[in-house]
Order: sequence, then structure tokens, then C-alpha cells
Amino acid sequence: MDLSKKRTFNFNAGPSALPLEVLEKAQKELINFHGTGMSIMEMSHRSAKFEDIHNGAITQMRKLFSIPDEYEVLFLQGGASLQFSMIPMNFLTIDQQAGYIMTGSWSEKAYKEAELFGKPYEVASSKENKYSNIPALVDFQFNSDDAYVHLTSNNTIYGTQWSVFPDTGNVPLIADMSSDIMSKPVDISKFGMIYAGAQKNLGPSGVTVVIVRKDLLEKANTEIPTILKYSTHADSNSLYNTPPTFGIYMLGEVLNWVEEKGGLEAIAKNNEVKAKVIYDAIDNSNGFYTGHATPESRSLMNITFRLSDEALEKQFLSEAKEAGFVGLDGHRSVGGCRASTYNAVPLEACRALSDFMIHFQTKHS
Ligand code: PMP
Repeated sequence: MDLSKKRTFNFNAGPSALPLEVLEKAQKELINFHGTGMSIMEMSHRSAKFEDIHNGAITQMRKLFSIPDEYEVLFLQGGASLQFSMIPMNFLTIDQQAGYIMTGSWSEKAYKEAELFGKPYEVASSKENKYSNIPALVDFQFNSDDAYVHLTSNNTIYGTQWSVFPDTGNVPLIADMSSDIMSKPVDISKFGMIYAGAQKNLGPSGVTVVIVRKDLLEKANTEIPTILKYSTHADSNSLYNTPPTFGIYMLGEVLNWVEEKGGLEAIAKNNEVKAKVIYDAIDNSNGFYTGHATPESRSLMNITFRLSDEALEKQFLSEAKEAGFVGLDGHRSVGGCRASTYNAVPLEACRALSDFMIHFQTKHS
């Protein structure tokens, strides 16, 4: 067997699995990109060749997501974590309120940054339920003069995901979609802004994608550092400074891969099938495995579960590792187990995990 082609069952939470076809194409093009005699990493970000890659990725992003003309597509750096600060820095003033819907650690981190720039408040929270659910839509009470309302569309650590987003009327809704962007179709027009670190569904780490309504940029704060203004990047087509060139190339290729797979509808269907295979193993286990998320809030991207005691859990993780499964440990802050089933994780890997779970249960009950 050609060991260089051996792929593991990769359930990492991010950085995570990338499509094999994309990796193979990148490998083929690595040393001599389209006859230039150099790799993408070695060429100027101001060269015509790179501009084609860059603009191609933006165009493909617009096409796949049906992004309306009133929105900018930006490729930034600093991860989703920098967005936690850039959002209030650009859109919040010291006396102004912004609503935060708290569904996990990433919402908490976003909230904390907003406290430095204005007056965030909790619109709703599922903290008292150990973030095992998405708060019910009826619980929301935000103010019509809020600068924005912020939510985390998929909670990577707790394994919960929004299925229907709240209608915030004239108040811009801002969503951290880091761990479920491109996993299903999304109506961009419902949002003032969407942002995501690339390293789960979009590509390698290093690029952060921001989709933002242009009118928000016109009203944004101006007394902030140039590089932290969204308008700086919008005005320079995300080429204000040296961008993560190779990451943008990979992002473009992953977008092409999704299109070849049939687009977001087809990807969503596949993700549903994949997640069901693993949730079924939990639900049919008579309590041997227990899911953390309540059934109606379950994530199709991060499946979190526990076993009856920590020793057994350790045994499970250790045997899984031996059997070739990677990344099944829960986040270090919560423990337990987590299988991340992003777009590039194949159905066969999910089936293999489900079979392993059933086999482990039979052996240890
Ligand atoms: N938001 C969510 C939902 C995440 O899952 C993560 C990272 N796993 C972050 C934000 C932070 O992203 P980054 O590491 O790109 O700053």
C-alpha cells in the first residue's frame, strides 16, 4: 500500500479534514503553479496570477452562497477571535448596547471583548443548562436601538447548532459561523454580518471570511486603527496588506470542490446522513452513550457525547485511537467525546465510527 495516500479517520474539531481531491490538486500544483516555475507561496500577492486566484475565490464565494450585491466579501486574518474585537470596535460606541445570545464559550469570549467598547448585554443564555441547547426563539427580548445582536450559529465545544435564526428586524444580526459555514444553505440577507475562521469547512487556518452589509461599513466608527477597520479591507479588495496567499488558494479550491459536489443543498443532505449515523449509535445504545445536546439543538458538525464513567470514557478514547480514529476527545474545557463531521469527513468515516461505537459497547456492557 502507498502509505503516503493512507488517510486516517479524521474527526478533528479544527483545523480539520480537508477534501482529498483538493489536497491532491494542491500537491500537483505546489512546486510549479500553472507553468510559472514557482509555488503560490513564492509569488507576489500583487501579481496578476495571484489576483486571479484571489478574485476567483471571492467570485466563487458569492456564487455558492448567493451573496447579494449589498454585501462585501472580505478575507482577513487573526481568526474568528479577532472578529470578537473588530465587531464592537467598528460597530459599537461606548454608550451603546449590543445584544449577545449566549450559547457557549465562544459567545462568552465575543461578549467579553464587546465589554471593552460598549455595553453588551445577554439577550438569552443556555448557560444554566450547561449550554446543552439553543434558547427558544420566544425567550428573546432585544432593544430596537441595539447596535447589533450577536450569536454563534454552531457551538463547536458543546455540540449545539441553530436551525432557525431569530428575526432581529432592523437591528443587524451578526453571526459567528466558524464551525458550520458552508455546511448548509444560508439566507445571507437575514444577516448584517457573518464571519468564520476557515479552518473547519472552508480550508486551512489563516484566513477569516467576513460577509458584511455595505451600509454597516458606512456607519462604522472611524477612530480605530486602519487595519482593524472593515472599510480598509473593503476598499482594497482584501489586499490592504499581504494576505495569507496559500490559504486563499486552498479556500478557492475547497469552494470549487463544494460546487462539484452539487453545492450547499447537496452538502447539507450529506451532512445530515453522516451525523445521523453517529447519533443513531448514541440513541440506540440504551444509555451506554449519552449525547450532551438536547435532540432539537443537536449540531450536525460537532457530535458531543459521554460514557457512563470517566474510566470507561478514557478506555473508549484510547481504543478508538488505536483503531485509527483521530480527534475524538472533547474540548479540554468540558471533556467527554466529540466527533466533528465537517464537510470533508466522508460518510465511510462516520460509518466506521458508528460500527466502532457499537462494537465497543458490546464488548464493555
Ligand atoms: N468561534 C467558534 C465557533 C470556534 O469554533 C472557534 C475556534 N474553534 C473560534 C470562534 C475561534 O476561532 P480562531 O481560532 O480562528 O480565532
